[in-house]
Amino acid sequence: MASHTASQRYLSTRGGSYDFSFEEVVLKGLAADGGLFIPEEIPVLPSDWATKWHNLSFEDLAYEIFSLYISPSEIPAADLKDIIRRSYATFRANDVTPTVTLDKDKNIHLLELFHGPTFAFKDVALQFLGNLFEYFLVRRNENKSGRDREHLTVVGATSGDTGSAAIYGLRGKKDVSVFIMFPHGKVSPIQEAQMTTVLDANVHNLAVDGTFDDCQDFVKALFADPEMNKTHKLAAVNSINWARILAQITYYFYSYFNLIRQQSFLPASKVRFVVPTGNFGDILAGYFAKRMGLPAEKLVIATNENDILHRFWESGRYEKHTVYGAAAEGGFAEDGVKAHESGVKETLSPAMDILVSSNFERLLWFLAYEVYSTSADAVSQRRAQAGDHVKNWLNDLKAKGGFSVDKQILAAAQEDFSSYRVSDEETIESIKQTYAAPSSKGYVLDPHTAIGVAAALRSAEVSGPPSTHHISLATAHPAKFSSAVEQALPDDKAYFVEKVLPEEFKGLEDKPRRVSHVKKSDGWQGVRKVVIAEVEAELQAADKAGR
Ligand SMILES: *Cc1c(COP(=O)(O)O)cnc(C)c1O
Repeated sequence: MASHTASQRYLSTRGGSYDFSFEEVVLKGLAADGGLFIPEEIPVLPSDWATKWHNLSFEDLAYEIFSLYISPSEIPAADLKDIIRRSYATFRANDVTPTVTLDKDKNIHLLELFHGPTFAFKDVALQFLGNLFEYFLVRRNENKSGRDREHLTVVGATSGDTGSAAIYGLRGKKDVSVFIMFPHGKVSPIQEAQMTTVLDANVHNLAVDGTFDDCQDFVKALFADPEMNKTHKLAAVNSINWARILAQITYYFYSYFNLIRQQSFLPASKVRFVVPTGNFGDILAGYFAKRMGLPAEKLVIATNENDILHRFWESGRYEKHTVYGAAAEGGFAEDGVKAHESGVKETLSPAMDILVSSNFERLLWFLAYEVYSTSADAVSQRRAQAGDHVKNWLNDLKAKGGFSVDKQILAAAQEDFSSYRVSDEETIESIKQTYAAPSSKGYVLDPHTAIGVAAALRSAEVSGPPSTHHISLATAHPAKFSSAVEQALPDDKAYFVEKVLPEEFKGLEDKPRRVSHVKKSDGWQGVRKVVIAEVEAELQAADKAGR
């Protein structure tokens, strides 16, 4: 298998392209054949990793892991270290992603991923991605000045968490502008305030008087527009960007090491990671960690009632939901392709309200590679076959709304993963119970994290203490989704304001804002006009400043 000293290259899951560099993969986002980029080889850990990495800081661990996926010829070691240091200096917790024990008797722990600038786990990836974009651009512009400089225009749509994390990842970055469209009045007040109170010149909020779908359509139309692509270099930050997956691998290792330093964890103990899942990005990083050699016994998928993944793991059939309305067409909620509104159920955990899970395609490729070929076959042939299978599955998803996989594929998927679906009622119950339980008294879960904890408790009934520990990923701070918390704990508002609400959120809604309003009736051409005018104004200001 791989040796990490060789240069790491990337291929498309649909077999259309091979041999991409890390830089190309990060700047392109999506492959030309519509597939997603994956590393040609999953790197194997150095044989002494367990002792060598045991006591590393989060940043040093990130460096060890990232350098298995990024060739030093692309980003020299000192530069990579500097990018990592700057990316995690913005976190409030010293150890970036701390692990806390929620239930000592049941061996349930929480991996807190919400100590970044926007209080959700997406910061771990987007702080890094923002610095990467800037690094690549500045390097490309080394001997250029003024209008010769390459300028990147990041365009995205959001229903909440992605937009704010992208804005905080890209604010103030050289040679990069960011435009985030959101449905006016339809994102939570705190999320809207987080986005629109960022006043850096390169940050552009566009409030659309439409739905999240309309915003998605605008983004898609801009990416497809030859005019726009002729004059602007567009980039995306949605969860299919490989650098986001990469950045999320670190905390699986980090949390594992945190756990083995605890006394209750014995050499014979097993670990299960439980991940509240929407687009399958966060948990896919766990899959990479496991494939690299992290001894995780299982990865546990926790879905809300948008349960396409749970249904797949039950049946081997991957199919869009049509229960909530007309036959749905299209993609995923927070990222990428359009999600037909009628197919997505609105839940208390909106960041997981998806129709299909975009990153699942990456897992499918590895399953096909392992199941349909053996190491006796030539690698190039194995890759081509895996790409063909993925292409056929995804074509069926598009044309027929779903596809079924062979028993062996499902069995391979079940080997690494199990899954649970958690309803809104159970989400509320999970917040209540955790808050009241003697072991975790007063701990307030956000609704996404609550889904993970509910799934962890169920998993612990199947494989629990003393041998198994569960690490459940806490993906957001409860103050970000306070209406669900209020629903669960209606009598504890004072406690919430005093003990839970972060200082950063107090008064945030009264701060000055900058936002442009876009009419749905102006169409995507109207958006294009705004983007072109605002980038031009930004460049003129930079010209004046003599950059
Ligand atoms: C984005 C998000 C998720 C889902 O993550 P995926 O990578 O899409 O599975 C879960 N919780 C919160 C709070 C999020 O913002």
